[in-house]
Amino acid sequence: MIRTPRLFSPPVLIGLAGGLGIALLIGHLLISRTPEVGLLEPVVAAPAERLENLKLRRGQTFGEILSNASIGWSDQNSLLMAFREQANPRRMREESRITLRWWPEGAGLRGVDVALNKDETVRLIRDGTGWTSDLIQTPIWIDTLYVSGAIESTLDGAIHANATLTEMSGPNRAWVVDMMDDVFQWQIDFSRQVREGDTYRFALERETRPDGTMRAGSHLISAEYVNQGMAYRAIWFDPNDDGDGTYYDEEGQSVRRAFLTKPLELGRISSVYSDSRLHPIHNIRRPHRGVDYAAATGTPIMTTGDGVVVFADWKGELGRLVEVRHPNGWVTRYGHMSSFGQGIRPGTRVRQGQVIGRVGATGGATGPHVHYEMRMRDGSPLNPLNLVLPAGDPVPTESWARWALESIERLTLLSTLEGPPIPLLRMAEEDAVPEAADSLSEQGGAEGRE
Ligand SMILES: [Zn+2]
Repeated sequence: MIRTPRLFSPPVLIGLAGGLGIALLIGHLLISRTPEVGLLEPVVAAPAERLENLKLRRGQTFGEILSNASIGWSDQNSLLMAFREQANPRRMREESRITLRWWPEGAGLRGVDVALNKDETVRLIRDGTGWTSDLIQTPIWIDTLYVSGAIESTLDGAIHANATLTEMSGPNRAWVVDMMDDVFQWQIDFSRQVREGDTYRFALERETRPDGTMRAGSHLISAEYVNQGMAYRAIWFDPNDDGDGTYYDEEGQSVRRAFLTKPLELGRISSVYSDSRLHPIHNIRRPHRGVDYAAATGTPIMTTGDGVVVFADWKGELGRLVEVRHPNGWVTRYGHMSSFGQGIRPGTRVRQGQVIGRVGATGGATGPHVHYEMRMRDGSPLNPLNLVLPAGDPVPTESWARWALESIERLTLLSTLEGPPIPLLRMAEEDAVPEAADSLSEQGGAEGRE
């Protein structure tokens, strides 16, 4: 069954009509946005120049490239000095593209472009006796794509076959599939629950470079997946207006859970939680108060929830161990790491999904895996596989007015696509403000499923 819209009283409908007018206006502005940021400026009155395209090889420095190109010492020094104003020449990535721009007929070097990454280029230009530098942002185009379709067998197959996305590269379409999975991972298991006839639709705000590739920052503004007749919706909203947005359902409840189901993106469960198991090394029976996920050494390990690192050190049999304390008082532990993530030490704040270390086999481990534990505030262990994960926080009360307006606007984007009717309007009601989260209370969600 598809959820049906609720009934509204007349004042709400009037407020709604106004809201929709504004929403449509904003929607129009959003769609007709023109390309942003710095266009590459041509060097003034450019005559014919000869370009020499180079790539930084492993272990090679920018200075070596300049030496190999027979650029004199004083020019080299001046170039490096100018470059340093924008970036560290010793921290350049392998494969960085460097373009030497020569005057024709042996008249010398007129400029150097160094692509630091896909979005930034340092342009060096001769200026009298020395060199000056500029940091140039690769121009991007922002637009919104409206995509909908039905499932034949898998979401992946459907997105790859979607006619609206034919211009998009394979890797970027795979990224869109990941975005849907990232948003709905707690509601739908896309590897198991998807059925023929399920439908999806979403509005994707896309940032595109001149070479057609999509840039980080691209994200779903709103999305819907109808699984066996049940509609799941998610709306992007930035509660603190600091660029750090997340997804809520049309009632303002978080679609996220306070914890990810596992600390690895991919990984095979190699040992489950048990009150008594035969220990693989010591050959004695002992409880195993966690879940082991086997994966290759070096695989990133993510913290499953927001929190603060309280321990990052060697701990006996568990080898290199990180412990994270979460806002509800729970602690998660990650053992046998080969290395800790950058900056991971006691006191470090971490966000759900942040890499805190890498898979290894330190301590008492027969092969590379992560030992993952969850404990309640009083230290009693939980079985992570047998847990209804507590909900993330709903839209905060102080952001509710902005949420009401923006969420209607974003859901309206979906209603331009074919699909079940969207209950737009619950958000306009004052009394729709959700109760403050009781979800992170001590026992929250700890009941087993069995
Ligand atoms: Zn274990």
